[in-house]
Amino acid sequence: MFSTELITKFNDTPTPFYYYNLELLENTLEAIKEASSAYNYHVHYALKANSNHKILALIESHGFGADCVGGNEVKRAVECNFSADKIVFAGVGKTDDEINIALENDIFCFNCESIPELEVINELAEKKGKVAQIALRINPNVNANTHHYITTGLEENKFGINRWEFEDILKTLEQLDHIKLIGLHFHIGSQITDLSAFKGLCLRVNEIQEWFYEHKIIVDHINVGGGLGIDYENPKENPIPDFKKFFKIFNDFIALRPQQQLHFELGRSVVGQCGTLISKVLYVKNGVNTDFAIVDAGMTELLRPALYQATHSIENLTSNSQELKRYDVVGPICESSDCFAKSLLLPETKRGDLVAIHSAGAYGEVMASQYNLRDLVKAIY
Ligand SMILES: *Cc1c(COP(=O)(O)O)cnc(C)c1O
Repeated sequence: MFSTELITKFNDTPTPFYYYNLELLENTLEAIKEASSAYNYHVHYALKANSNHKILALIESHGFGADCVGGNEVKRAVECNFSADKIVFAGVGKTDDEINIALENDIFCFNCESIPELEVINELAEKKGKVAQIALRINPNVNANTHHYITTGLEENKFGINRWEFEDILKTLEQLDHIKLIGLHFHIGSQITDLSAFKGLCLRVNEIQEWFYEHKIIVDHINVGGGLGIDYENPKENPIPDFKKFFKIFNDFIALRPQQQLHFELGRSVVGQCGTLISKVLYVKNGVNTDFAIVDAGMTELLRPALYQATHSIENLTSNSQELKRYDVVGPICESSDCFAKSLLLPETKRGDLVAIHSAGAYGEVMASQYNLRDLVKAIY
């Protein structure tokens, strides 16, 4: 995956750091464009997966919109030249300041999650003499079959508006003159690899649309969120997700009215595979069952393993050994959850070896912290 030249460059760079393969990102963006434009679908990139400036600039230059979940993300998207009429803003807890930022920038759409939020957006828009375009984020009660921390589309989750609230929502909307309903929004979770979950979403969207239709409402925009998973086990074999198959499911199963446009918010599937966390082995320590390879990156650089029990493929980039041994690959942070892999087979590993932790482009650098007063992780390209 990495040329010897690149490994030399890695060796000359202080570790740990993120390496982004911009060529792979570009190829991924082109694959998305090709697959989505076949149906004229709109794709908004979910900034929360990775809001690195260089990455955003490349994504923007390919014509993508932006999906933001906070006021600073809206600011960042505007700063990186995403056109305001392609910015959507979701989140269960939008503050007044964040709503004002979005109003001032005349974003395309607020994805709203509750009646009190609709009322606040209406009030703030009125103060500015504006009318805010909104979509209702609906909880479709579809199981995404993913880790429970990243499933969002079930009634027990905090996200979205539930079926039993629809009547009240319509009554509320009738009274609010400074918001305009333009869409319905859904997002069922993340790292979804069982694509039948998206078929389930389409069928539920069709039912919900019927309900609105019976109440004489046809919105112009349907937004089905993101969630397409990536192959964490075999990043080299599958560097680009199967976007053709993904978009085709929507084309096959969602029933759109003639004027309706379909929107997506993809995060992980866009940037996940282009990022690698590069780290150096500090010590190899004998353990009871397996030895520990203690590396200089930890949960402060990549939180996913500690947060979601996620596993990333790990490779020793510099060992020449033919002998395979088992290691627990752990970070230096004072937490037992600071562990990247248990009992992993690696070529014999020693102090100074470089390891690559693959598929770290999404929800990696953005979740970096300075816990233990560590330096904030840097990136190279
Ligand atoms: C996180 C998020 C996304 C992106 O999800 P991915 O799994 O990274 O594609 C899209 N929409 C909303 C509302 C989100 O919160």
